[in-house]
Amino acid sequence: MNQTTFAYTPASINTKPLTDHNRLGLDYHAEADQLSFAAPIWDAHSHINTPDSARTFLKVMDLYNIEKVWSMTQLENLPALRDIFGERIEFIAVPNYYAKDEPDTFTIDWYNRIEKFADFGVKIAKFWAAPRAVDFLPGFDIQSPGYKKGMHIARDTGMMFMTHIGDPDTWFATHYKDTEKYGSKSSHRQSLEDLLNEFSDIPWIAAHMAGNPEHLNTLTQLLIDHPNLYIDTSATKWMIRELSKQPRAELLTFLEQFPDRVFFGSDIVTDDNHGADEFDLYASRYWALRTLWETAYAGPSPIVDPDLHLVDPSQPENATAHLQGQSVPASTLQNLYHDAAKNFFANIYTT
Ligand SMILES: [Zn+2]
Repeated sequence: MNQTTFAYTPASINTKPLTDHNRLGLDYHAEADQLSFAAPIWDAHSHINTPDSARTFLKVMDLYNIEKVWSMTQLENLPALRDIFGERIEFIAVPNYYAKDEPDTFTIDWYNRIEKFADFGVKIAKFWAAPRAVDFLPGFDIQSPGYKKGMHIARDTGMMFMTHIGDPDTWFATHYKDTEKYGSKSSHRQSLEDLLNEFSDIPWIAAHMAGNPEHLNTLTQLLIDHPNLYIDTSATKWMIRELSKQPRAELLTFLEQFPDRVFFGSDIVTDDNHGADEFDLYASRYWALRTLWETAYAGPSPIVDPDLHLVDPSQPENATAHLQGQSVPASTLQNLYHDAAKNFFANIYTT
């Protein structure tokens, strides 16, 4: 086991105004230069929405050495974002979430959109199935024939799949206490496993570490049992909170066991609603994630994590998680940050 660690103390604490994505008052421009990993990074999970926000996001990509981003973007915005990013963006097909309450959004309209995304050259389709889907789609089930029909259409166009199954343990302990309505964490994992078996010829990316950053043993078994499964490490607050708690040796063992199947991701969502804080909002995610993966920093995350107050009301509403850098060795980082996603990408664009 590589025991080298990268000691890192932010030099710019309290030099900027405090906001919910900058409780340490960091200068995210200055801190980016202090991080150690110098090679290009691919972000396999983001939601780049509008052209204006994309231009700001592109500056953050440059600052944090993000060479390429995979984005779940509204069909109508693909041409504009392609013009802004060129080859630095790839798209993942998504339903029209802006019309999520309309009855056809996840069926007829989605089937049509899959075909149009495919015409644009998109090679991955996202089948979102968080437990909270039942809040606006009563009775929603990822295994329902109507939802699966989209998978068949996507497969026929040559697409791979991405899915969001489960959610943090903190949500199952609070929002999702009603397991009759929302299911249990293990029932959602079982749904994923059923689909991985049914569509075993399709590579699947399960977002947010397949919903299990809290349970590396479960995740290890999932990856062993399903050779077509890949995961991304997106969802910044969730990953910071839970991966900081993982013993370093166990996290490194996990990453080293699956060098080709774990993709770095952020889950950054860009839009036009953030005013002057927009740059810091996006930069905070890359700063926190890169600090987690690359450094031995031990201290507060700069990002407010509402789940801390949710599970423990004695914590203030603007509490931030403890961030424990895991100092992942450079050779392992190279796989996580770049090579695994790039190899996956190269394979899907030659099939
Ligand atoms: Zn996402």
